[in-house]
Amino acid sequence: MKKCIQCGAEALELTTFEHTIEAAGRTFTATLPTLRCGKCGETYTSDADLERAELAAAKTLADSGEVSGATFRAMRHALGFNVKALAEVLGVAPETIPRGARRARRRPPRPAGRLCVAHARRDRTPAAAATPPLPAP
Ligand SMILES: [Zn+2]
Repeated sequence: MKKCIQCGAEALELTTFEHTIEAAGRTFTATLPTLRCGKCGETYTSDADLERAELAAAKTLADSGEVSGATFRAMRHALGFNVKALAEVLGVAPETIPRGARRARRRPPRPAGRLCVAHARRDRTPAAAATPPLPAP
């Protein structure tokens, strides 16, 4: 990405921003690389980096050993599984996924000007979601 989509300036500089993720009653913060327009201030962060931050938060939740519908739901969401896809992977009927793990979590609003720089947000199939994430930068 060489030009700002908002104003067309070529004054994009690499910086960082603090991305906050609320999951299972906890707050996670990740410092993500971001391109900022020196002219209008618009910022651009890749979906891949946002996904990595969400997966890292889910891993922290998993490592905590906390067992609850909220943690399960947060991990399911981070992996991109809807209830049907999760049930398929587990080999169970969707109705058997516990109710607490089924409720949809509202995604926190993404920062203004977010743009997919590196990857389009892919439609996550169970096979795609099983692909190990790239290491954090
Ligand atoms: Zn701009």
